[in-house]
Amino acid sequence: MTLHDLRFDNAWAKFPDDFFTRVTPTPWSGTRVLDVSPLGASQLGLDAEALWRDEDEHATLTSLMAGRKLLPGMEPIAQKYTGHQFGSYNPALGDGRGLLLGEAVTDSGFVDLHLKGAGQTPYSRFGDGRAVLRSSIREYLAGEAMAGLGIPTTTALAVAVNEEKVMRERVEPGATLLRLSESHVRFGHFEWLYQRQRPEDIERLAWHVIERHRPLLREAEAPFEALFEDTVTRTADLIAAWQAYGFVHAVMNTDNMSLLGLTIDYGPYAFMDRYQPRLVPNHTDAEGRYAFNQQPGVALWNLAVLAQSLTPLIDVERLRAILDTFEPRLQSTYADYMRQRLGLAEKWEEDHALVSSWLALLEKHSADFHGAFLSLVDYDGSQASFADVAAALECEPDDDALVQWLRHYTDRLAQEPRSRQQRHDAMASVNPRYVLRTHLAQSVIESAEAGDSEPLRTFRELLADPFTERPDMDVWQQVPSRNAPPVNLSCSS
Ligand code: AMP
Ligand code: MG
Repeated sequence: MTLHDLRFDNAWAKFPDDFFTRVTPTPWSGTRVLDVSPLGASQLGLDAEALWRDEDEHATLTSLMAGRKLLPGMEPIAQKYTGHQFGSYNPALGDGRGLLLGEAVTDSGFVDLHLKGAGQTPYSRFGDGRAVLRSSIREYLAGEAMAGLGIPTTTALAVAVNEEKVMRERVEPGATLLRLSESHVRFGHFEWLYQRQRPEDIERLAWHVIERHRPLLREAEAPFEALFEDTVTRTADLIAAWQAYGFVHAVMNTDNMSLLGLTIDYGPYAFMDRYQPRLVPNHTDAEGRYAFNQQPGVALWNLAVLAQSLTPLIDVERLRAILDTFEPRLQSTYADYMRQRLGLAEKWEEDHALVSSWLALLEKHSADFHGAFLSLVDYDGSQASFADVAAALECEPDDDALVQWLRHYTDRLAQEPRSRQQRHDAMASVNPRYVLRTHLAQSVIESAEAGDSEPLRTFRELLADPFTERPDMDVWQQVPSRNAPPVNLSCSS
């Protein structure tokens, strides 16, 4: 199938007029596609090889990325939404630098094609509606890395650079990202309708989500309650995954929360290197509102804002009861992830202590989070593997806390029904060898800015399948040194 074969059914463009504004992309000049994602292509039923190598197909993709061409059936719109940013309500939000080009109908469901960096819209406020290469590459790789880990996320079909420059803290190459998502529906869409006191439109939007994305809920006794339950459960599972894999979103405003429970709107996010529960990668978040260890609480706060927006549809007591399921769900999903990462097949209550003392150990030694888990994959109780764990934590092999923890862990493993080899294989399939570390993303960005996008493609390939060890790829596993200055990330993108 080629780009021209894509079929669209644009429900959003048929909503009431003020749900969106029709905007045509502002064309870029000198556009060059840097990478096509096999994952994104497969989500659309397209052939990534053809998009990259076939002259006509590549030209079509390039003009699409340049905002110079639309495919038959596309109807570009900027969506209106609002949201709570850092705790305060902002009524002036919406798609300010991206356009929903169309909603594709594929064999496996609906896929929004959203062009980020497509130019100004009525919701751009003071922004230029553009995107820079740095943030586009970061978002592109984040989608691949999340999907590679099995964590729900938006993805992208391609990333492109333009000759035109864009002014941020410095002058940077302009870029576009063709983002894919089952839907871009956000908590903020409901907040907007609630603040405008439009109960019928809240109902219309909720029905739309049910019919198009959660058809099984149509049959539920109370479909709107079932939809809210679904969002609460999926959000709990999503945050559990973030916590288990050391991901900090860093801008968990309600407009950046997906009703479908996807990770969306990657900005100054980070996969942490050394374990630091209070990590705040966004240097503009001085209070640490969105620190790593705050994410579960913030997600619940955001869900409470969504619940309020749904009061015209659902009884307040029911909303409260559903919100109360968030914390136990998150705890239990998180425990499952951590058990898997530690190689425990059986569920024991007291594993909680094993997990928290492990994390305390990592914090004490500011150990590399991912390397620490990887060192346990090969742990077999021998002196040599004991020393390997100590080396991964950069501590002495006779460190008291480590010795104690490994004793506890060894005893626990001895009670497991699985063989050493079975446990090894299970652990290797959930503990990534290749992680989207900020400094590695930064080096990919610098190469791309200098005209070499080969490292981008290599890293994308590794992140899409992070559990398989490849020869000669050690540079992609490097941990930043202890005294390396942190890469300065900001919201400006
Ligand atoms: P974010 O929290 O990064 O997802 O962005 C918050 C809001 O600011 C959204 O409504 C964006 O569309 C808008 N925005 C961010 N950057 C720009 C830009 N360069 N031009 C126009 N709008 C922007
Ligand atoms: Mg946003």
